[in-house]
Amino acid sequence: MVVEAPDVKALVRSLSADLCGIAPAERFNGAPAGFRPADIDGRARSVIVYAKRLPASTLIAENCVPYTFVNGEITRDVDRLTLNLCLRLEDVGLRTVPIPSDDPYEYWESERSYGRAILSLRHAGELAGLGKLGKNTLLINPDFGNMIQLAAVLVDAALEPDPLVESEACPADCRLCLDACPQQALDGSTVDQGRCRPLSNYPHEKGYVLKRCNRCRAICPHALGMKR
Ligand code: SF4
Ligand code: SF4
Repeated sequence: MVVEAPDVKALVRSLSADLCGIAPAERFNGAPAGFRPADIDGRARSVIVYAKRLPASTLIAENCVPYTFVNGEITRDVDRLTLNLCLRLEDVGLRTVPIPSDDPYEYWESERSYGRAILSLRHAGELAGLGKLGKNTLLINPDFGNMIQLAAVLVDAALEPDPLVESEACPADCRLCLDACPQQALDGSTVDQGRCRPLSNYPHEKGYVLKRCNRCRAICPHALGMKR
């Protein structure tokens, strides 16, 4: 059975996603070799990208625990959505491959603490028309800003794609996020993970990880969307 894009989007939203966009696999041709949809499943023809929004209040807390907690919970929530979506799409005859919202991934360069997901979700979000990448390297959605958690599913059907967002997210002269980074980890197009991780993934001596920095996210005038 063929599933139309509107049906897929309605299904994704019924599973509690706040955003959904669709990108044809060919839009990823500029991604690094080994990290394109075809490298994950040679029969993938479309990428369904979706997101759930995070409560804005976590950005104003002085303590990092609320943000860490929300980040972990929303990641599990989106991944649960992904599993349910795969099952529902398989029920109507589609071949699906889930893309996790965060860990795990295989590629890791320990000497510079550099990891790369099997598919870059922030780029996937841009290619599915959900927003534009900011200089802080986060996807900025017009409605929810950078306070979103992304995930995706590859499917073997050619679904109608969404148009790309054409307008730029960042004013040319804005460098608030770059200047606010305590680790000087941002250069306007990439993040030096080796500099960022000690704060954004701070290993607590009790054994868990705390997200002790989100300044590049919080300081952005578009953190909560282009209209707020
Ligand atoms: S999370 Fe903090 S350390 Fe990492 S890039 Fe953003 S501002 Fe810099
Ligand atoms: S703070 Fe400014 S430069 Fe950084 S992502 Fe936001 S709008 Fe872009």
